[in-house]
Amino acid sequence: MELHVIETGNLKLDGGAMFGVVPKSIWNKNYPADENNLCNWSMRCLLVVDGDRKVLIDNGIGDKQNEKFLKHYYLNGDDTLQKSLEKAGYTTDDITDMVLTHLHFDHCGGSIVKAGEDQYKPAFKNATYWISKGQWEWATKPNRREKASFLKENIFPIRESGQLKIVENEGALFPGIDVKFYNGHTDGQMIPFIKYNGKTIVFMADLLPSAAHVPMPYVMAYDTRPLVTLQDKEKFFTEAIEKEYILFLEHDLYNECCTLEETEKGPRVKETFSLSEI
Ligand SMILES: [Zn+2]
Repeated sequence: MELHVIETGNLKLDGGAMFGVVPKSIWNKNYPADENNLCNWSMRCLLVVDGDRKVLIDNGIGDKQNEKFLKHYYLNGDDTLQKSLEKAGYTTDDITDMVLTHLHFDHCGGSIVKAGEDQYKPAFKNATYWISKGQWEWATKPNRREKASFLKENIFPIRESGQLKIVENEGALFPGIDVKFYNGHTDGQMIPFIKYNGKTIVFMADLLPSAAHVPMPYVMAYDTRPLVTLQDKEKFFTEAIEKEYILFLEHDLYNECCTLEETEKGPRVKETFSLSEI
């Protein structure tokens, strides 16, 4: 099995929204904001190549939104989905499986491209798109609070293309890749666990956006059920420490991966490193 980090560029989001009830005077020391209170976040995806199977996990914000929308998120950085796939030696046509942790636009915007005025088609024409049942049902009937994150042009064309596969159960998705569902951030967020060289690498998505979010109260204001996030985090962290999981961080601009350890104050970051160091 080969793993490739696929950087798709960065976006800026309000630091207060990202750190929830934690005061800026505290989080700003670990994850500094700019003069507009915005912090810079990566959209770091992962390509898993195992024989003929080429699995991409999440795909960033894409490039089909209008300028006004994209400007609002201050896209920055030189990396794009296409450039990073090419650098790894692949194209969008090579991808056999597109695994989406959830359907917020910064995770799935690269799924679909424009095919003309108000027309859309899958960016990965040979891929099956895997989405959890809980997330599909949640995102296709969005609540008012999350509606701005679920863009219909990212979602319905997947079903219309016939390339959608709903994941009903936790467990093995492919040999070497298991998934589990978490409901605090959004319903049915699907987290992949990858077995690699005797280690388990967990693609954290929005269950843990960055290493700065490790202490328990650091829960995003975006989460629909923050108390469920707390339970999910606690249970997952206990398992991650016991089994020495490597956490792959999608949104952390400064750290690609981290491990955790138990301390007197609760779980904390043990080490940070890049995936290539494993
Ligand atoms: Zn999200």
